[in-house]
Amino acid sequence: MPGLEDLRRAVGKLLKRSGPYEALVKEYVRDVQRALIPADVNVRLVFELTRRIRERALQERPPPGVSRREWLVKITYEELVKLFGGDGEPEVKPRYTPYVIMMVGVQGSGKTTTVGKLAKFYRSMGYRVGVVAADTYRPGAYEQLRQLADRVGAMFYGEPGSKDAVGIARRGVEELRKRGAEIIIVDTAGRHGYGEEEALLEEMKNIAEAINPDEVMLVIDAAMGQKSYDLAKRFHEATPIGSIIVTKMDGTAKGGGALSAVAATGARIKFIGTGEDVDELEVFRPKRFVARILG
Ligand code: GDP
Repeated sequence: MPGLEDLRRAVGKLLKRSGPYEALVKEYVRDVQRALIPADVNVRLVFELTRRIRERALQERPPPGVSRREWLVKITYEELVKLFGGDGEPEVKPRYTPYVIMMVGVQGSGKTTTVGKLAKFYRSMGYRVGVVAADTYRPGAYEQLRQLADRVGAMFYGEPGSKDAVGIARRGVEELRKRGAEIIIVDTAGRHGYGEEEALLEEMKNIAEAINPDEVMLVIDAAMGQKSYDLAKRFHEATPIGSIIVTKMDGTAKGGGALSAVAATGARIKFIGTGEDVDELEVFRPKRFVARILG
Protein backbone atom coordinates (compact mmCIF):
# COMPACT_ATOMS: atom_id res chain seq x y z
CA MET A 1 0.00 0.00 0.00
CA PRO A 2 1.71 3.22 -1.11
CA GLY A 3 1.98 5.77 1.67
CA LEU A 4 1.90 3.44 4.60
CA GLU A 5 4.64 1.44 2.91
CA ASP A 6 7.07 4.21 3.86
CA LEU A 7 6.82 2.67 7.26
CA ARG A 8 8.60 -0.34 5.88
CA ARG A 9 11.38 1.97 4.78
CA ALA A 10 11.66 3.40 8.31
CA VAL A 11 12.01 -0.12 9.64
CA GLY A 12 14.58 -0.99 6.97
CA LYS A 13 16.64 2.07 7.87
CA LEU A 14 16.48 1.15 11.53
CA LEU A 15 17.90 -2.28 10.89
CA LYS A 16 20.92 -0.76 9.15
CA ARG A 17 21.64 2.01 11.63
CA SER A 18 24.22 1.86 14.44
CA GLY A 19 24.93 3.98 17.47
CA PRO A 20 23.58 4.33 21.00
CA TYR A 21 20.14 2.87 21.55
CA GLU A 22 18.44 6.06 22.78
CA ALA A 23 19.56 7.97 19.69
CA LEU A 24 18.42 5.07 17.54
CA VAL A 25 14.96 5.13 19.09
CA LYS A 26 14.72 8.87 18.61
CA GLU A 27 15.65 8.68 14.92
CA TYR A 28 13.39 5.73 14.36
CA VAL A 29 10.39 7.44 15.93
CA ARG A 30 11.01 10.44 13.72
CA ASP A 31 11.11 8.21 10.62
CA VAL A 32 7.85 6.56 11.63
CA GLN A 33 6.25 9.99 11.96
CA ARG A 34 7.65 11.04 8.60
CA ALA A 35 6.18 7.92 7.05
CA LEU A 36 2.73 8.14 8.60
CA ILE A 37 1.87 11.82 8.31
CA PRO A 38 2.06 11.96 4.49
CA ALA A 39 0.10 8.69 4.44
CA ASP A 40 -2.92 10.65 5.69
CA VAL A 41 -2.89 9.29 9.18
CA ASN A 42 -4.27 11.86 11.59
CA VAL A 43 -1.40 13.77 13.18
CA ARG A 44 -2.56 13.36 16.76
CA LEU A 45 -2.85 9.66 16.19
CA VAL A 46 0.68 9.49 14.81
CA PHE A 47 2.10 11.23 17.85
CA GLU A 48 0.14 9.02 20.19
CA LEU A 49 1.44 5.94 18.41
CA THR A 50 5.06 7.06 18.37
CA ARG A 51 4.86 8.13 22.01
CA ARG A 52 3.85 4.60 22.93
CA ILE A 53 6.57 3.09 20.76
CA ARG A 54 9.18 5.36 22.35
CA GLU A 55 8.01 4.63 25.89
CA ARG A 56 7.95 0.90 25.43
CA ALA A 57 11.27 0.93 23.58
CA LEU A 58 12.97 2.72 26.45
CA GLN A 59 11.23 1.00 29.34
CA GLU A 60 10.74 -2.61 28.33
CA ARG A 61 13.50 -5.15 27.91
CA PRO A 62 13.53 -7.35 24.85
CA PRO A 63 13.14 -11.07 25.58
CA PRO A 64 16.37 -13.10 25.55
CA GLY A 65 17.76 -13.71 22.07
CA VAL A 66 15.94 -10.73 20.56
CA SER A 67 18.02 -7.72 19.61
CA ARG A 68 16.88 -4.26 20.66
CA ARG A 69 16.24 -3.39 17.05
CA GLU A 70 14.11 -6.44 16.36
CA TRP A 71 12.31 -5.54 19.53
CA LEU A 72 11.59 -2.07 18.22
CA VAL A 73 10.07 -3.53 15.07
CA LYS A 74 8.00 -5.91 17.15
CA ILE A 75 6.70 -3.07 19.33
CA THR A 76 5.74 -1.11 16.22
CA TYR A 77 3.90 -4.12 14.87
CA GLU A 78 2.07 -4.68 18.16
CA GLU A 79 1.09 -1.04 18.61
CA LEU A 80 -0.19 -0.80 15.03
CA VAL A 81 -2.21 -4.00 15.42
CA LYS A 82 -3.67 -2.54 18.60
CA LEU A 83 -4.68 0.61 16.74
CA PHE A 84 -6.40 -1.48 14.10
CA GLY A 85 -8.46 -3.35 16.64
CA GLY A 86 -6.19 -5.87 18.30
CA ASP A 87 -5.31 -9.51 17.86
CA GLY A 88 -8.54 -11.16 16.95
CA GLU A 89 -10.80 -10.91 13.97
CA PRO A 90 -13.88 -8.75 14.24
CA GLU A 91 -17.14 -10.48 15.07
CA VAL A 92 -19.23 -10.35 11.93
CA LYS A 93 -21.99 -12.72 12.99
CA PRO A 94 -25.00 -10.82 14.34
CA ARG A 95 -25.64 -11.44 18.01
CA TYR A 96 -29.34 -11.99 17.33
CA THR A 97 -31.86 -11.75 14.52
CA PRO A 98 -33.57 -9.88 13.04
CA TYR A 99 -30.58 -7.58 12.91
CA VAL A 100 -30.80 -4.16 11.27
CA ILE A 101 -27.69 -2.60 9.74
CA MET A 102 -27.73 1.02 8.63
CA MET A 103 -25.06 2.04 6.14
CA VAL A 104 -23.75 5.60 6.13
CA GLY A 105 -21.05 7.37 4.15
CA VAL A 106 -20.55 10.01 1.49
CA GLN A 107 -21.64 9.53 -2.10
CA GLY A 108 -19.15 7.63 -4.19
CA SER A 109 -17.60 5.86 -1.24
CA GLY A 110 -19.06 2.58 -2.50
CA LYS A 111 -21.99 2.32 -0.13
CA THR A 112 -24.56 0.79 -2.45
CA THR A 113 -22.03 -1.67 -3.88
CA THR A 114 -21.07 -2.64 -0.35
CA VAL A 115 -24.70 -3.26 0.62
CA GLY A 116 -24.77 -5.79 -2.21
CA LYS A 117 -21.50 -7.35 -1.06
CA LEU A 118 -22.69 -7.63 2.52
CA ALA A 119 -25.98 -9.11 1.42
CA LYS A 120 -24.08 -11.76 -0.51
CA PHE A 121 -21.71 -12.38 2.40
CA TYR A 122 -24.56 -12.97 4.85
CA ARG A 123 -26.54 -15.00 2.29
CA SER A 124 -23.55 -17.32 2.02
CA MET A 125 -23.61 -17.71 5.80
CA GLY A 126 -27.17 -18.93 5.44
CA TYR A 127 -29.09 -15.86 6.59
CA ARG A 128 -32.23 -14.56 4.94
CA VAL A 129 -31.21 -11.06 3.94
CA GLY A 130 -33.25 -8.03 2.92
CA VAL A 131 -32.05 -4.66 1.65
CA VAL A 132 -33.77 -1.28 1.73
CA ALA A 133 -33.15 1.44 -0.87
CA ALA A 134 -33.31 4.63 1.19
CA ASP A 135 -30.85 6.63 -0.90
CA THR A 136 -33.36 8.95 -2.51
CA TYR A 137 -30.82 11.47 -3.79
CA ARG A 138 -28.47 9.66 -6.11
CA PRO A 139 -30.18 8.91 -9.41
CA GLY A 140 -29.80 5.26 -10.14
CA ALA A 141 -29.22 4.13 -6.57
CA TYR A 142 -32.65 2.48 -6.41
CA GLU A 143 -32.16 0.51 -9.63
CA GLN A 144 -28.56 -0.40 -8.75
CA LEU A 145 -29.61 -1.86 -5.42
CA ARG A 146 -32.65 -3.62 -6.85
CA GLN A 147 -30.44 -5.40 -9.36
CA LEU A 148 -27.80 -6.23 -6.77
CA ALA A 149 -30.44 -7.72 -4.48
CA ASP A 150 -31.69 -9.80 -7.36
CA ARG A 151 -28.22 -11.03 -8.16
CA VAL A 152 -27.33 -12.12 -4.63
CA GLY A 153 -30.76 -13.50 -3.71
CA ALA A 154 -31.72 -10.86 -1.15
CA MET A 155 -35.19 -9.47 -0.55
CA PHE A 156 -35.64 -5.89 -1.65
CA TYR A 157 -37.68 -2.92 -0.54
CA GLY A 158 -37.81 0.45 -2.26
CA GLU A 159 -40.23 3.15 -3.35
CA PRO A 160 -39.15 4.45 -6.75
CA GLY A 161 -39.74 8.15 -7.21
CA SER A 162 -40.25 8.85 -3.52
CA LYS A 163 -38.04 11.32 -1.68
CA ASP A 164 -39.18 10.29 1.78
CA ALA A 165 -36.00 8.52 2.90
CA VAL A 166 -37.08 8.26 6.55
CA GLY A 167 -40.46 6.79 5.60
CA ILE A 168 -38.91 4.34 3.15
CA ALA A 169 -36.42 3.16 5.76
CA ARG A 170 -39.15 2.68 8.37
CA ARG A 171 -41.57 0.90 6.05
CA GLY A 172 -38.75 -1.12 4.49
CA VAL A 173 -37.49 -2.49 7.79
CA GLU A 174 -41.06 -3.30 8.89
CA GLU A 175 -41.95 -4.98 5.63
CA LEU A 176 -38.76 -7.04 5.37
CA ARG A 177 -39.12 -8.14 8.98
CA LYS A 178 -42.60 -9.39 8.15
CA ARG A 179 -41.21 -11.22 5.14
CA GLY A 180 -38.80 -13.06 7.41
CA ALA A 181 -35.52 -11.27 6.77
CA GLU A 182 -32.96 -12.06 9.46
CA ILE A 183 -30.51 -9.38 8.41
CA ILE A 184 -31.81 -6.11 7.03
CA ILE A 185 -29.36 -3.68 5.43
CA VAL A 186 -30.49 -0.11 4.83
CA ASP A 187 -28.71 1.88 2.13
CA THR A 188 -28.80 5.65 2.69
CA ALA A 189 -27.88 8.79 0.80
CA GLY A 190 -24.42 10.31 0.78
CA ARG A 191 -25.19 13.26 -1.37
CA HIS A 192 -23.51 16.11 0.44
CA GLY A 193 -19.76 16.21 0.12
CA TYR A 194 -17.34 17.11 2.82
CA GLY A 195 -18.04 20.48 4.44
CA GLU A 196 -21.64 20.83 3.30
CA GLU A 197 -23.28 17.87 4.93
CA GLU A 198 -25.61 19.38 7.54
CA ALA A 199 -28.76 18.19 5.76
CA LEU A 200 -27.31 14.77 5.15
CA LEU A 201 -26.35 14.26 8.77
CA GLU A 202 -29.77 15.46 9.87
CA GLU A 203 -31.34 12.86 7.60
CA MET A 204 -29.09 10.13 8.97
CA LYS A 205 -30.14 11.08 12.49
CA ASN A 206 -33.80 10.95 11.53
CA ILE A 207 -33.47 7.58 9.82
CA ALA A 208 -31.62 6.16 12.80
CA GLU A 209 -34.36 7.39 15.13
CA ALA A 210 -37.01 5.85 12.88
CA ILE A 211 -35.47 2.39 12.51
CA ASN A 212 -33.30 2.11 15.61
CA PRO A 213 -30.55 0.10 13.88
CA ASP A 214 -28.62 -2.59 15.72
CA GLU A 215 -25.46 -1.41 14.02
CA VAL A 216 -24.45 1.62 12.00
CA MET A 217 -21.67 0.89 9.52
CA LEU A 218 -19.59 3.72 8.13
CA VAL A 219 -18.36 3.16 4.59
CA ILE A 220 -15.17 4.99 3.88
CA ASP A 221 -13.11 5.15 0.70
CA ALA A 222 -9.49 4.18 1.34
CA ALA A 223 -8.43 7.14 -0.80
CA MET A 224 -10.29 9.63 1.36
CA GLY A 225 -7.15 10.71 3.21
CA GLN A 226 -6.97 13.42 5.85
CA LYS A 227 -10.63 14.31 5.48
CA SER A 228 -11.68 10.97 6.89
CA TYR A 229 -10.98 11.93 10.49
CA ASP A 230 -13.38 14.89 10.54
CA LEU A 231 -15.91 13.16 8.38
CA ALA A 232 -16.01 10.04 10.52
CA LYS A 233 -16.27 12.20 13.62
CA ARG A 234 -19.27 14.09 12.30
CA PHE A 235 -21.07 10.97 11.19
CA HIS A 236 -20.30 9.49 14.59
CA GLU A 237 -21.90 12.46 16.32
CA ALA A 238 -25.05 12.11 14.20
CA THR A 239 -25.37 8.33 14.38
CA PRO A 240 -22.92 6.47 16.65
CA ILE A 241 -20.76 4.36 14.35
CA GLY A 242 -20.56 0.70 15.32
CA SER A 243 -18.16 -0.48 12.65
CA ILE A 244 -16.25 0.64 9.59
CA ILE A 245 -15.93 -0.75 6.09
CA VAL A 246 -13.01 0.52 4.06
CA THR A 247 -13.62 0.29 0.32
CA LYS A 248 -11.26 0.42 -2.64
CA MET A 249 -8.37 -1.15 -0.79
CA ASP A 250 -7.41 -2.54 -4.19
CA GLY A 251 -6.81 0.96 -5.53
CA THR A 252 -3.80 3.23 -5.26
CA ALA A 253 -5.03 4.64 -1.96
CA LYS A 254 -2.69 5.62 0.79
CA GLY A 255 -4.98 3.97 3.28
CA GLY A 256 -3.99 5.96 6.32
CA GLY A 257 -7.38 7.66 6.35
CA ALA A 258 -8.92 4.39 7.42
CA LEU A 259 -6.82 4.43 10.54
CA SER A 260 -7.93 7.98 11.25
CA ALA A 261 -11.58 6.98 10.89
CA VAL A 262 -11.00 4.29 13.48
CA ALA A 263 -9.48 6.84 15.82
CA ALA A 264 -12.32 9.30 15.30
CA THR A 265 -15.08 6.83 16.10
CA GLY A 266 -13.53 4.23 18.35
CA ALA A 267 -15.16 1.68 16.03
CA ARG A 268 -13.42 -1.28 14.46
CA ILE A 269 -12.87 -1.97 10.80
CA LYS A 270 -14.96 -5.05 10.07
CA PHE A 271 -14.65 -5.48 6.33
CA ILE A 272 -12.58 -4.20 3.46
CA GLY A 273 -13.66 -3.86 -0.15
CA THR A 274 -11.09 -5.07 -2.63
CA GLY A 275 -12.78 -4.55 -5.98
CA GLU A 276 -15.97 -3.63 -7.80
CA ASP A 277 -17.39 -7.12 -7.90
CA VAL A 278 -19.97 -8.30 -5.41
CA ASP A 279 -17.57 -11.02 -4.20
CA GLU A 280 -14.76 -8.63 -3.42
CA LEU A 281 -15.31 -8.17 0.29
CA GLU A 282 -13.04 -9.51 3.01
CA VAL A 283 -13.29 -9.68 6.77
CA PHE A 284 -10.64 -7.32 8.09
CA ARG A 285 -7.71 -9.00 9.79
CA PRO A 286 -5.57 -6.45 11.68
CA LYS A 287 -2.52 -8.68 12.00
CA ARG A 288 -2.41 -9.59 8.36
CA PHE A 289 -2.97 -6.00 7.37
CA VAL A 290 -0.18 -4.64 9.55
CA ALA A 291 2.19 -7.42 8.57
CA ARG A 292 1.57 -6.46 4.95
CA ILE A 293 2.36 -2.81 5.70
CA LEU A 294 5.54 -3.59 7.58
CA GLY A 295 6.65 -6.15 4.99
P1 GDP B 1 -22.23 5.12 -3.33
O1 GDP B 1 -22.49 6.45 -3.96
O2 GDP B 1 -21.47 5.27 -2.05
O3 GDP B 1 -23.42 4.26 -3.18
O4 GDP B 1 -21.18 4.39 -4.31
P2 GDP B 1 -21.33 3.15 -5.30
O5 GDP B 1 -21.66 1.91 -4.56
O6 GDP B 1 -22.19 3.51 -6.45
O7 GDP B 1 -19.80 3.01 -5.77
C1 GDP B 1 -19.10 4.06 -6.40
C2 GDP B 1 -18.03 3.45 -7.32
O8 GDP B 1 -17.04 2.80 -6.52
C3 GDP B 1 -18.58 2.39 -8.24
O9 GDP B 1 -17.96 2.54 -9.50
C4 GDP B 1 -18.16 1.08 -7.59
O10 GDP B 1 -18.01 0.04 -8.52
C5 GDP B 1 -16.85 1.46 -6.98
N1 GDP B 1 -16.45 0.62 -5.83
C6 GDP B 1 -17.15 0.32 -4.72
N2 GDP B 1 -16.43 -0.47 -3.89
C7 GDP B 1 -15.23 -0.67 -4.49
C8 GDP B 1 -14.03 -1.40 -4.13
O11 GDP B 1 -13.89 -2.01 -3.05
N3 GDP B 1 -13.00 -1.36 -5.04
C9 GDP B 1 -13.10 -0.68 -6.22
N4 GDP B 1 -12.05 -0.69 -7.04
N5 GDP B 1 -14.20 0.02 -6.57
C10 GDP B 1 -15.25 0.02 -5.73
